[in-house]
Amino acid sequence: MKRTSVLCLLLATSIVSFGQKKPKINTNKKAVIASIDARNDQLTDLSDRIWAFEEIAFEEVKSSKALADFAESQGFKVTRGVADIPTAFTAEFGSGKPVIAILGEFDALPGLSQKAIPTKEPLNEGSAGHGCGHNLFGVASLGAATAIKELMEQRKFGGTIRFYGTPAEEKFFGKLWMIREGLFDDVDICMDWHPSAETKAAVQSSLALVDFMVEFSGQTAHASADPWNGRSASDALELYTTGINYYREHIKPTVRIHYHIMDGGKVVNVVPDYAKIWTRVRDTKREGMEIVWKQVERIAQGAAIMANVDYEIKLISGVHELLVNRTGGAKMQTNLEYLGAIEYTDEEQEFAKKIQKATGSKVVGIESIITPLEETLEHPGGGSTDVGDVSWVVPTIRLSATTAPKGTPWHGWAVVACGGMSIGHKGMIYAAKALSMTMVDLFEDAELREEVKAEFIERKGDYVYQGIVPDGPPPLPGN
Ligand SMILES: [Zn+2]
Repeated sequence: MKRTSVLCLLLATSIVSFGQKKPKINTNKKAVIASIDARNDQLTDLSDRIWAFEEIAFEEVKSSKALADFAESQGFKVTRGVADIPTAFTAEFGSGKPVIAILGEFDALPGLSQKAIPTKEPLNEGSAGHGCGHNLFGVASLGAATAIKELMEQRKFGGTIRFYGTPAEEKFFGKLWMIREGLFDDVDICMDWHPSAETKAAVQSSLALVDFMVEFSGQTAHASADPWNGRSASDALELYTTGINYYREHIKPTVRIHYHIMDGGKVVNVVPDYAKIWTRVRDTKREGMEIVWKQVERIAQGAAIMANVDYEIKLISGVHELLVNRTGGAKMQTNLEYLGAIEYTDEEQEFAKKIQKATGSKVVGIESIITPLEETLEHPGGGSTDVGDVSWVVPTIRLSATTAPKGTPWHGWAVVACGGMSIGHKGMIYAAKALSMTMVDLFEDAELREEVKAEFIERKGDYVYQGIVPDGPPPLPGN
């Protein structure tokens, strides 16, 4: 008798302590998890179709349509071709406040077509590929929005859920024109995620950048018979890049300068009268980037003077660094802890190891962990995103979910491979769950929304957002 009661007590204690480890969730969160599980096949099929469409920036016609059609079939009010971009759309359900937004990207990268196998082999030779996992990105976000919509239909909470189909993140940064159009003006809080080699609430910033085209114009002449009649645009181009490369010694370590020669002349026996170069300047903060941007423009002017040619600089676009939100990140993290880490089968571990071997990375397989909430760094490095601009307009809560093993070169064939098979699919489904759970928190908890907004206002300070985007229509193909 006594023994039994001690055993009961022990059991009861262990159940309580187990219960304390794992945060409890309410029925609404259970419902969104169940909703996404029920749609697993549907969402996987949608992401595989977008993966195979292999469409690049502003040409994502089939991908955008597939997502918009899905949203419409689920009962969302879809507005296609927003901000004068045929592949941009919004899908909305509900009415009034709060307005919770979620972002979805779907563009691929040129030249990265790849089969869903762990060795390099294109699906379609010369075509594009989802080397940033955006086939998963858009679908997970729309899946999360759909789960929220179902709770709204059951009158679990009010307000508006709005999915943004945002094209051309990889080139031109489509969100800039959607912001300029005022599409985010009534949003309270925005959600976002990105495929990654880690699973964590994302609380690091990104780099600000600017893209501009420099064009040099001179005069053609016979390269040997009368070169004195020529004024070489490619001389100016070489002087320009030489100037940039000397300048590198005198810029801060956080700055990055890249260029891509678009046109350096056509043939060896003609002094070229035209040259064109895409230039990109980045830094961890917009202010630092702007200083370097202006100096690089002066280098273009100097190069033109030295080569005795004319020059023109055209702004393409630019993005802000991300404004992080730790309050939202901490809430996201509790939901990740509830979900637990993504688990992998032996076959998936084998696939991951083959990917690591083929790309020269450490062969360790794919990690099944949740990275703890990190300290937000002042200079985190990394890449850039137009989500940065959204984050200066509305508070933005972000997630990274594992869709490829550690060490996989991003924007490469191996990320495409993983995004077309179960490793990518698992990350996508996981992201949909974590995003929708955090949206449940936001819809249910007015106090949380206020805390997230208060942090946003404090971090933003007195900066009034101004997009780095030229006047006129977006740079669509043919414009
Ligand atoms: Zn990306």
